Amino acid sequence: MRTRVWGGALLVLLAAALLIPAVAAAKNKPADTVFKNGYVYTVNPGERAAQAVAVKDGRIVYVGSSRGARAFVGAHTKVVNLRGKMMLPGFIDSHMHASMTVSSLYSVLLYGMASVDEYVAAVAQFAADNPDMDVIRGEGWSNTVVPGKGPLASSLDAVVSDRPVAIMSEDYHSTWVNTKALQLAGITGATPDPEDGVIERVDGTQATDPPYGTPSGTLRETAGNLVTDLLPDYTVQEYKEGITYFQDEVAAPLGLTTIFDPLLYVDGNAVQALEEMAAAGQLTVRFRGALSLTPDQDLTTWLADARAERARHTHGMFKTPAVKIFADGVIEGHTAYLDEPYADALEYKGDASYRGEPIWQPAVMKAAFKKLDKAGFQIHVHAIGDAATTETLNALSYARKANGRRDWRPGITHLQLVDPTDVPRFARLGVTAVPDPYWFIKDDYYTYLQLPYLGLPRADEEYPMRSFFNAGVTVASASDFPVTIPPNPLTGIAVGVNRWDPTWVYEYPAPPSLDGVLWPAERVSVARMIRSFTIEGAKANYLEKKIGTIKVGKRADLVVLDANLLKVTDKTELFDAHVLFTMGSGKVLYDKLAD
Ligand SMILES: [Zn+2]
Repeated sequence: MRTRVWGGALLVLLAAALLIPAVAAAKNKPADTVFKNGYVYTVNPGERAAQAVAVKDGRIVYVGSSRGARAFVGAHTKVVNLRGKMMLPGFIDSHMHASMTVSSLYSVLLYGMASVDEYVAAVAQFAADNPDMDVIRGEGWSNTVVPGKGPLASSLDAVVSDRPVAIMSEDYHSTWVNTKALQLAGITGATPDPEDGVIERVDGTQATDPPYGTPSGTLRETAGNLVTDLLPDYTVQEYKEGITYFQDEVAAPLGLTTIFDPLLYVDGNAVQALEEMAAAGQLTVRFRGALSLTPDQDLTTWLADARAERARHTHGMFKTPAVKIFADGVIEGHTAYLDEPYADALEYKGDASYRGEPIWQPAVMKAAFKKLDKAGFQIHVHAIGDAATTETLNALSYARKANGRRDWRPGITHLQLVDPTDVPRFARLGVTAVPDPYWFIKDDYYTYLQLPYLGLPRADEEYPMRSFFNAGVTVASASDFPVTIPPNPLTGIAVGVNRWDPTWVYEYPAPPSLDGVLWPAERVSVARMIRSFTIEGAKANYLEKKIGTIKVGKRADLVVLDANLLKVTDKTELFDAHVLFTMGSGKVLYDKLAD
């Protein structure tokens, strides 16, 4: 039966090929959409730009000349004249917290404000606007505004004293709380710092009883969990609203069609919301996710629960193949794990040799990686300090030796300081580098935190990129949204090429002087930056056969820009480019082509 059908089909095809011109044969299968007269940069190696793309049933069915595309135009085909504009594959962000968009709808946002007074005023207003909220949550305060010990509980108490307030810093590694929240968590002057966390204390209280000193209101790393673990999670419905907002208002206008959401929780409401949306056909952005694992969790229990969670998500638009672990914290919290001591170690810690600490003891990380890899989890690691990356590579190497070689594609993200001798190890071990090009600038972080905390030359040798490419490493770019807002890949590309940003450079001269450029030797080409947001991101997520380049058979994830990134005369013009059109799996998600 099957053979006969195939035989028949083959005959028809043969007849078409022999007797009828190819154009007519293809006309039997008109496309849904044909794009013509464009500069279609396919990102396929060695390929020249095409002019046209045809899309049918969510997939690319033709890439080539505009003339050749005519064969795919039928009575109901939508034909889009690109008028020379650049088309690229849909952008992929390989580490961004899309599901956390919920917090932008249900919490107070302090991003971009310049003083504690502004923060406090915003919290007061939000609390007044939301009298029924049991807890005031927020995010976005900056360590650059309040360096050192961070903001104070007393500042929040002045405006909200009846309910707990917990506000994450913009890098998500510190939590600013009021006294009510400290009381809720039972944090007092006698509470010791938890493992891998710091309770900032009021100056001068350490010398007196109680021995640890009065909490001042800022909790670093795991100390923040003492409060946030007690707060209720957002509901499934709230997560859905957040994800919908993310898809429509954040991803679509920026051309993002696939993202890796790195901090999901087993049995959490976020995974439930994503699963329900995938099943209902409501995901327009393809999600890949990692399930969080911390060293205090029992690994055997976690593995059992995480395997079950992973098995629940089989939809092409949402899967959780990965595990996320933190190897260290962040420079701005003095929690990154460094090879050499912090430049201000004595001043900050009273100990000139202080270089941060690993969140996982090396032996524990090795044993965990071996088991995680054995269970088929893709390992995704946050590493900021050079020592954290070395430790992570050591543990990955150990797991690979123990379990044998397979196509495993672990990733290390952020990579602020990297020992140059570690770069080739990424390639050897098949580890993806997931840098955040948005951060490759001498901004206020550089001036107020990195220079004083790291000193030179370390502060000027942050965020390698070119080295990874040159070593043959898969380099998948990421924004770490909402740490970066907006997570605009075109900005990421522009910064990766220039390593300075005309809108962000405050006190440093702009090129042609190189003083304003953060590590000029690590600038990369436009083509490499595009790869890092397309095919390399696809590879990082095991999706290179489905997305990442413009190729017949792949999903029709496409973006159109108002500028040709490869033809700019001055590289700073890259900052002026915009997305005009976004298509995900053949569906129009954003369209400003007519404007
Ligand atoms: Zn992150």
